Amino acid sequence: MSTHPRIGVLAVQGDVREHLRALEAAGAVATTVRRPAELEQVDGLVVPGGESTTMDKLVRAFDLYEPLRARIASGMPAYGSCAGMIMLADRITDGRADQQTLGGLDIRVRRNAFGRQVDSFEEDLHIRAIGGGPMRAVFIRAPWVEECGPGVEVLALVEDGPAAGRVVAVRQGRLLATAFHPEVTGDHRFHELFVEMVRNALAEDARGPRRRATGARDADAGAEGGTDVDARAGGTHAGQ
Ligand code: GLN
Repeated sequence: MSTHPRIGVLAVQGDVREHLRALEAAGAVATTVRRPAELEQVDGLVVPGGESTTMDKLVRAFDLYEPLRARIASGMPAYGSCAGMIMLADRITDGRADQQTLGGLDIRVRRNAFGRQVDSFEEDLHIRAIGGGPMRAVFIRAPWVEECGPGVEVLALVEDGPAAGRVVAVRQGRLLATAFHPEVTGDHRFHELFVEMVRNALAEDARGPRRRATGARDADAGAEGGTDVDARAGGTHAGQ
């Protein structure tokens, strides 16, 4: 089992370089993904921040849309930050009319949720899942999470100001998402958490193929929090 999993950064648009650096610092071998053949070689994938409407168009132009959905559905760990969180969400509010996502996370996100006035800001967040002290979170025209399905674990909330209590980091099975940008601060704890998720997924897969569809809930409930796997494998998203 590799202790340095190979993790791709979706490189059609957005802040790719910062994620590559953060992943390397967190112990992964990081590589860009622009082609289906490159996607096949990675153990996990980061979907960076940028502009989700543009990214949505470009993943189709690069013939990555179906391969990405297929790999996410079959259990590839993925981490989305900001626009990446939108891309991994099953549902969007305030998306462009024709905007689609890759989906996988049983959440509804609101695009540009913090409004025009405060569209970029920073705040210290206390996040138990990453241990240690508070993390500086940088929000840039960020979404927030408006609804979470039952298998979704909330990792962080806005703590101050008019948006206090809004959900800004979640995990569901092998999927992780933050509304903020940990790749720009030099604090790599979120990337370390994701690298650990990828290592665990590799170890789990090495013990035997994941059971999907009807068997998935029983097989994975303990390790992954239950309903999420069910939603991913057999849910509304798979056949759209
Ligand atoms: N507002 C952007 C979008 O909707 C996200 C911004 C970001 O990723 N920093 O895609």
